Amino acid sequence: MCAPIMATKIPDAPKIGMVSLGCPKNLVDSERILTKLRSDGYQMSADYAGADVVLVNTCGFLDSAKEESLEAIGEAIAENGRVIVTGCMGDEADVIRAKFPQVLAVTGAHQYEQVVNAVHDASPPIPNAFVDLVPEGGLKLTPRHYSYLKISEGCNHRCSFCIIPSIRGDLVSRRIDAVLREAEKLVAAGTKELLVISQDTSAYGVDTRHDVRQWKGRDIRAHMTDLARELGQLRTTEGRAPWVRLHYVYPYPHVDQVIPLMADGLLTPYLDIPFQHAAPNVLKAMKRPANEAKVLDRIRKWRAICPDIAIRSSFVVGFPGETEADFQYLLDWLDEAQLDRVGAFRFEPVEGAAANALPDAVPEEVKEERYQRIMEKTAAISAAKLQAKIGRILPVIIDEVGEPDEEDGSVGATARSQADAPEIDGNVFLRDVGEGRRAGDIVDILVEDADDHDLYGVPA
Ligand code: SF4
Repeated sequence: MCAPIMATKIPDAPKIGMVSLGCPKNLVDSERILTKLRSDGYQMSADYAGADVVLVNTCGFLDSAKEESLEAIGEAIAENGRVIVTGCMGDEADVIRAKFPQVLAVTGAHQYEQVVNAVHDASPPIPNAFVDLVPEGGLKLTPRHYSYLKISEGCNHRCSFCIIPSIRGDLVSRRIDAVLREAEKLVAAGTKELLVISQDTSAYGVDTRHDVRQWKGRDIRAHMTDLARELGQLRTTEGRAPWVRLHYVYPYPHVDQVIPLMADGLLTPYLDIPFQHAAPNVLKAMKRPANEAKVLDRIRKWRAICPDIAIRSSFVVGFPGETEADFQYLLDWLDEAQLDRVGAFRFEPVEGAAANALPDAVPEEVKEERYQRIMEKTAAISAAKLQAKIGRILPVIIDEVGEPDEEDGSVGATARSQADAPEIDGNVFLRDVGEGRRAGDIVDILVEDADDHDLYGVPA
């Protein structure tokens, strides 16, 4: 006679809530922490109430971001009570503890092991989980069809308005084979668009002297050009090249080498270069890397090789010492550069930044007036560039498919062209996409209309 089978009750796994604030780099950290916790047997909770412990991954870059982080910690404490704080603001543990003495632990940026240990202490994992709870490609907080690929941490520059090097340290590049393996897994798991991020993508591998590793039987250097070329070889499950965007690129000479890859369709024709200003004395006071006068010539050459290249950038107005002549120089420079996408910010002193000690602060009302002028200028450039696309057929990636229209049943979708990175750039609004379209589909569309920042079209 067989022995009776006893039902074994597997205890419920502890649940973790996560609040992720700040930039995509922080989001990647959150994903990495959650992936590790999931592999340790934890479950995720979508709300405060269901969580055994809540992690708040903070941003401490600007004073406004710090305030937002403190608010988020306060909310998590009020709603749940068991809170662990990590991320950039973790470096100001005393500020957090003074305001919220009840937080269970505070760990700093990239202290993955410490934050995971703090979760283990606060809510011990169930030993010997039998199942592999981690999906291929890790846990993701971004939609499945696009993923951020972080290639390094930290930065060797010392821009006077920035405290990132003091929070995150000097540049530490990941091994090229590890980055490519992660990219391959993400694409195999359904990613159609990879967004390469770091603090300084062009400097990738400088710290390891462009360390060479074996990948698919070949020697590959840890270098932005080699990385871009290899990412261009990946294929999605449908056999297409995924879109690959390079973010936070400084215009070092070797950037010229990736433009032909864009012209050949191996890399998305998009460069995110945070110029921050154009006037030489402001750039000098900012201590910006790769600050050189010939950048306009190079942009012209890039466009000659790859006419469709979209260049995105961000600018700070009202930096200490910026004169009306400097600001006018920037506006004239923008007329020449004809950048496709621009974000502008009013200078804001960040606690601990060297720029705070610079003389000749720009009065708030002048900052505001310059901000309005740069926004008008860049919106006009963008509108003209988008108008010129009307009538063209362009590939777009669908981010979201709408509900059928109540009257005629037609379905619209929100998509992006190759000139639009998620969250920061424009959209392409589509009508009549037909049935069966899904987020992540890449389709050719006819551009029918445009406004200052967005396009409107229909599948071609
Ligand atoms: S390049 Fe400058 S702004 Fe960017 S992270 Fe480094 S120091 Fe900060």
